[in-house]
Amino acid sequence: MIIQKTREEIELIRESALIVSKTLGMLASEVKPGVTTLQLDKMAEEFIRDHGAEPGFLGMYDFPNSLCMSPNAQVVHGIPNSEPLKEGDIISIDCGALKNGFYGDHAYTFPIGDIDDETQKLLDVTRESLYVGIREFKIGNRVGDVGFAIQQYAEKHGFGVVRELVGHGLGAKMHEDPEMPNYGKRGRGKKFIEGMVVAIEPMINAGTHRIKQLKDGWTILTADNKPSAHFEHDVALIDGKPELLSTFHYIYQALGIQSDEEEEFRAQTINFND
Ligand code: MG
Ligand code: MG
Repeated sequence: MIIQKTREEIELIRESALIVSKTLGMLASEVKPGVTTLQLDKMAEEFIRDHGAEPGFLGMYDFPNSLCMSPNAQVVHGIPNSEPLKEGDIISIDCGALKNGFYGDHAYTFPIGDIDDETQKLLDVTRESLYVGIREFKIGNRVGDVGFAIQQYAEKHGFGVVRELVGHGLGAKMHEDPEMPNYGKRGRGKKFIEGMVVAIEPMINAGTHRIKQLKDGWTILTADNKPSAHFEHDVALIDGKPELLSTFHYIYQALGIQSDEEEEFRAQTINFND
């Protein structure tokens, strides 16, 4: 059952989502050749706790860390380790935070130094597909409309859309109804309702959409070992339209990137100087 949130509850989810956004922004300056994913995980845990929140993933379903760190061919759910990142890698960082009883959950895939053109295109198309999907999250539409839009966009560029892992409702639980697949048929699935909150999170592969899992029971990677990217936003349905609760603003600020991709989905009241 889809849980409708009050305006007050949506503001609490926004607070947790923005802690995740700031955590990713802090990490953006630290993600470089030589750093290990375990070092980044410790920095993130400390940062989240300093902001009065709990790491959302730590201990959830017995996950051992605060961040899911999935380099290169890893799709999602990679476990931080002591292997240094190197020039040319990409790293998907998925982060959760729990504060005031509500979760934030979002993700960004970072390039490490210079990456090849095909992998850069994968990052761009995956991030763009996220906004293409968010645009369909509105009253009158259904779950399938978001998935359809993401799938069309990714496949048009020759990439594979992961089927086994999906986005989800978000609130007092990290994973609520409805499931939000990144593929689907127009006009199918559950109807969107005012006040619902979802995490939309395309996981897009450079090659086949097929995946495999490591023996650690967590790490998902592409079946053909080609790279995979993952971008995720938390979005509320307010006045019939999508409103972003999370933001890549802090990442872009850290990296000196100009972008107006989020503008149409952003609340007028958000002050990034707070
Ligand atoms: Mg996530
Ligand atoms: Mg999620």
